[in-house]
Amino acid sequence: MNANLICPACGTQYPEDDVVWRCRCGSFLDLNDTFTCDPSRFRGPENLKRYASVLPLRNPSSAVTFGEGFTPLHPMVFYGIQVMAKMDFLLTTGSFKDRGAFLMINKCRELGIRSIVEDSSGNSACAIAAYCALAGIRAQIFMPAGNSSAKTVQVRTYGATLHKIPGNRSDCARAAEEAAGESYYAAHTRNPYFLHGTKTVIYEIMEQSRWEAPDYIFVPVGSGSQILGIWLGLQEMKRSGVIGRYPRLVAVQSEHCCPLKNNREGKQTPELPASPLLAEGIAIRIPPRMDQILEAVAQTDGDVVAVSDLDIVEALQASALQGVYIEPTSAAAVAAIKQYNGRLKQSDRVVVSLTGHGLKASARMETLINTA
Ligand SMILES: *Cc1c(COP(=O)(O)O)cnc(C)c1O
Ligand SMILES: [Zn+2]
Repeated sequence: MNANLICPACGTQYPEDDVVWRCRCGSFLDLNDTFTCDPSRFRGPENLKRYASVLPLRNPSSAVTFGEGFTPLHPMVFYGIQVMAKMDFLLTTGSFKDRGAFLMINKCRELGIRSIVEDSSGNSACAIAAYCALAGIRAQIFMPAGNSSAKTVQVRTYGATLHKIPGNRSDCARAAEEAAGESYYAAHTRNPYFLHGTKTVIYEIMEQSRWEAPDYIFVPVGSGSQILGIWLGLQEMKRSGVIGRYPRLVAVQSEHCCPLKNNREGKQTPELPASPLLAEGIAIRIPPRMDQILEAVAQTDGDVVAVSDLDIVEALQASALQGVYIEPTSAAAVAAIKQYNGRLKQSDRVVVSLTGHGLKASARMETLINTA
């Protein structure tokens, strides 16, 4: 396959086998390929290799894998609304980030990269550290010092080198970028291969829905790696004539960090506090791919929603009372459905992405929820 990397800012192209992680102009890069979605080619094992025909891997059969994928699409009820919950917190490391890490780390493997640098609020670091362990690649992870200790412990236990950075998420990204130097900066916030991995979630949702597009998909959005993966997949399906219309993509953020909403209203997003937000996984003040996220929302006639911590806790409990234990970041997407109460039709098919496992945030939840 003749893939090329292309800079969305200045148009410069790079051959796919160049080990570059950013353009000379400083921008992140995208893949210049278009994949054809032909459902008859999705055969074989129910794991991510099933989608090899739409994945930018040269040698998918030799990709390393945990056999991941095909998380259930499970019926739940929130605020009296019937929704289908995509249970991505059931992936190997406990979040949807495994999809992106699967592809990005296998690409690193194909490119002969032996060492990577990543910065993360937690879950992407866990996913990348686990796939690096599987692939035999050295991982250096930069994390904000105040983050959930469960994620920190998980990352270190996988054998990654952990650098705890005082300050907030932005300080952390800066430190990682500086350290990347000659190594490969495998940032889920920018890396195009990561997005082609996360796009497998929409392929699964569509297969599980017999290729009938839902009306709404609620997604928690930080850097946008999941929503942009979904958007990539949907475009591939529409271009290939597999779907006739797009589901509305609803991008959900915390009201303490909502750059998408602020952007719409022409406002700046204030600096984040040093202590982590409740929805720590979506606390990204300036998502590098913000314009692309807003474009995905606009093109799908979607929406941008900010939710309160109170609503997040309520959503988390409503989920747990149905036996599904998710982390607060993940519950933010559920909380956004509340704002759609009365706006959804009975016939609307609603999907909510449950992105992260509750066990990772138990310590934090103990202080929030009266379990007595
Ligand atoms: C990372 C993360 C998100 C946000 O994903 P982005 O790709 O940064 O938009 C949402 N939920 C959980 C649990 C996460 O770990
Ligand atoms: Zn450029």
